[in-house]
Amino acid sequence: MCKITGFTACSLQPTSGAQGEYAGLLTIRAYHLDRGDQHRVITLIPSSGHGTNPASAVMVGMDVIVVKCDEQGNIDIEDWCSKAEQYKDTLSALMVTYPSTHGVFEEGIREICEIIHQNWRSCVHGWSQHECPGRIDFAGSDRADVCHLNFHKTFAIPHGGGGPGMGPICVNDKLAPYLPGHPVATTGGSKGVYAVSAAPWGSASILLISYAYIKMLGKIEWQMRPAMLSECQLYESKTEKSYKILYTGKMDGQHMR
Ligand SMILES: *Cc1c(COP(=O)(O)O)cnc(C)c1O
Repeated sequence: MCKITGFTACSLQPTSGAQGEYAGLLTIRAYHLDRGDQHRVITLIPSSGHGTNPASAVMVGMDVIVVKCDEQGNIDIEDWCSKAEQYKDTLSALMVTYPSTHGVFEEGIREICEIIHQNWRSCVHGWSQHECPGRIDFAGSDRADVCHLNFHKTFAIPHGGGGPGMGPICVNDKLAPYLPGHPVATTGGSKGVYAVSAAPWGSASILLISYAYIKMLGKIEWQMRPAMLSECQLYESKTEKSYKILYTGKMDGQHMR
C-alpha cells in the first residue's frame, strides 16, 4: 500500500470506512496533542463529504465546520479559504473524499492542500477514496498526511450485506508514530494511539483478495486513465439524458489528465 500511495506507513487495522476515518483522525489528534496543540480541534468538511465524516470527527473530539460546494459539486475554494482563515488558530484537519461521494474529482484538490500546508501549517486529512479502480495519484505524502482507502471499494473486497470490509490508512512521516497500536500484538507506531479494532491487523485473511487483485492488475494498470476516461464518456453519453445527476464535475475529461 505504501508503494501504491507513496506514503511511509500503513495500518491495516481499520475494518470499515468509518473506522478508517476514525483511525486517521485519531492519529491527527495525537499529533496535535503531542505538540501541545490541544486547542486544534476544528475539522473542515465539504458539504459533499460522506455522512460518516462529521460523525468520525465528533467521535475523536473535534468540532466540524462545513465548507460549501460549487454548482458542479467541487469544493468552493473561496469559502474554503475564508473558513480556513477564520479558524486558522484552531484548525486541525481537512477531510476530503476523492472522488467525492457524488463521484466528482475535486479539480482544486492540489491547490486546497497547498493552501492548508503553506498558510496554516496544519494537518490535511486526505481521504483518497476510490469508488472504482484507477487514479491513485492524488495520494502522496507531499499533499495529504493521511490517505484512507476502502479495500471494499477500490480493491475488490465484497462488503455488501454487512460483510467484513477493510479501511486501511496510509500516513506520512509526520503521522507514522501515531498509527494504532494493540494491547496484545506489537503493531502500530512508537507513540501509537489505542487500538481501533479488536484484531491487530483487522480482517487480515480477506486481504488475500486485494493482494491477488493488485497482483493481477500490476503497477502500470494502477495509473490506468483510459478506463476512467471511458467511464466519464459513458456517463456523459448515456446516463445524462436518462437520469438527473446531481453533480457531474467537468465532463470533458480534462481533469483526468
Ligand atoms: C464508503 C465510505 C465510508 C463508509 O464505509 P463503511 O465501510 O460502510 O463504513 C466512509 N467514508 C467514506 C469516505 C466512504 O467513501
